[in-house]
Amino acid sequence: MNVLLWFKRDLRVYDHPALCLAAGWGRVLPLYVAEPDYWALPDTSSRQWAFTAETLAGLRTDLAALGGPLIVRTGDAIEVLPRLCKQNAITRIISHQDVGNTWTRARDRRLAACVRDAGIEWKEVPLARGAQKCDDPALPAPRFQPIDGIEPGEIPPARALRLQADSCPHRQTGGRVQAGALLDSFLEHRGAGYLRSMPSPLKAERACSRLSPYLAAGVISSRSVVAASVARRATRPGGPWAANLRGFETRLVWRAPSAQSAQGMDRHAAPHLAGSPTSGALMEAWAQGQTGYPFLDACMRYLTASGWLNFKARAMLLSFATYYLGLDRSAVGNVLARRFTDYDPSIHWPQVQQHSGLSENGRLRGIDPVKQGLEHDPRGSFTRRWVPELAPVPDRFVHMPWIWPGAQSLLGRRYPEPIVDLATAAKEARAAIAPLRGETPPKTRRSRPAHLGQLALDL
Ligand SMILES: Cc1cc2nc3c(=O)[nH]c(=O)nc-3n(C[C@H](O)[C@H](O)[C@H](O)COP(=O)(O)OP(=O)(O)OC[C@H]3O[C@@H](n4cnc5c(N)ncnc54)[C@H](O)[C@@H]3O)c2cc1C
Repeated sequence: MNVLLWFKRDLRVYDHPALCLAAGWGRVLPLYVAEPDYWALPDTSSRQWAFTAETLAGLRTDLAALGGPLIVRTGDAIEVLPRLCKQNAITRIISHQDVGNTWTRARDRRLAACVRDAGIEWKEVPLARGAQKCDDPALPAPRFQPIDGIEPGEIPPARALRLQADSCPHRQTGGRVQAGALLDSFLEHRGAGYLRSMPSPLKAERACSRLSPYLAAGVISSRSVVAASVARRATRPGGPWAANLRGFETRLVWRAPSAQSAQGMDRHAAPHLAGSPTSGALMEAWAQGQTGYPFLDACMRYLTASGWLNFKARAMLLSFATYYLGLDRSAVGNVLARRFTDYDPSIHWPQVQQHSGLSENGRLRGIDPVKQGLEHDPRGSFTRRWVPELAPVPDRFVHMPWIWPGAQSLLGRRYPEPIVDLATAAKEARAAIAPLRGETPPKTRRSRPAHLGQLALDL
């Protein structure tokens, strides 16, 4: 039998159940489709494609060593797959189930109808994203018989997908080798301070695994990462290493439930604040790291340049935009998604829902960027590195330059005044949210403006 193996977010040969099944069924055509309509979506970006393209190049080599190279086509999967099946007498397609986003789920439904009409069977293998069970050993990469005589096709450059240039000088590079090196260094030495260092963007950059883009693209399986961590823990029983690795394994397991909540997200979305009339300017200031809140701006600029940010800082960026600025949750979520090299809809959108304005359990969320800065970057070294305009500001004022005696020479000139007063914005947010929760809006009192040094409550 001739089989088409369709790669999506599972760009690897090791621990790949669909590849193992296909190899046992007959001759295999391993395919990746670069879909211009997908890459035109508002949550996709050139940095994500660059990472994917690097990964595809490595996958092509790995597959060639097992039987035949990866075939790449640019176009609409609904046209490409049936055409390749017809041309190569293929009667079965196999792929992993992709949680994806609304667009990919709709595309899969249309493709299912299309191949059914053409008499082709499509088997979807569940993807063990969360790896709750790591008892089963990871699958080795199987050798397979390729379908001969197929032009491999070019891995398209970003411009062929009409992607806008997106400078990300510190982006992680795609590929199996890079993922393996990160996993090794994390388990060998970097993970020693994992849990303690995670909330600080300064320390998390090194102490977190940094595997997220590789897991999102399926370069490495969650199961094999959990298995490696469990094996490492066995050699370091007890003590801080064991706790750190357990914490790491827990997070890998979180990948699975997120997948389900992503699918239910649209239906169960909690009420949130509508975009304000001045949202264009506010959005621009937030997205450019020009809000006048130094730690927040540093995190945004760092994300822009690296494609990665630690969990707590991601939550802060989102919370600030939706809660304090009252910006639209979807628009804010899309800006962040585009900047994440590790964008994974099944993790991202549930997190957006959880951290924007009103969470599912009805709690108000506002993460105070001044408080975060004082806690996680007390001397301002990270903040000054990414917001060099603050170089002349002494340490104790770096997160509140508006109370620095020399503020006049800086604010409104080289660096903006705070874009909102946090306390006032929090009250307005509570007043706006109350009717959505069926409550009477609280009476609002004028609060002291930010430049008088009032710190907002971390709600
Ligand atoms: C608003 C917001 C958006 C986010 N969007 C994404 C996203 O698009 N893609 C993404 O991979 N992560 C996302 N996260 C979760 C988290 O911030 C990243 O997974 C993490 O920072 C990646 O760094 P790491 O690989 O070093 O993580 P580690 O701490 O080393 O964790 C290992 C792996 O566990 C998984 N993981 C970690 N935290 C979570 C979580 N809370 N839920 C589910 N899985 C988790 C990730 O795959 C991660 O790579 C988001 C968080 C927030 C608050």
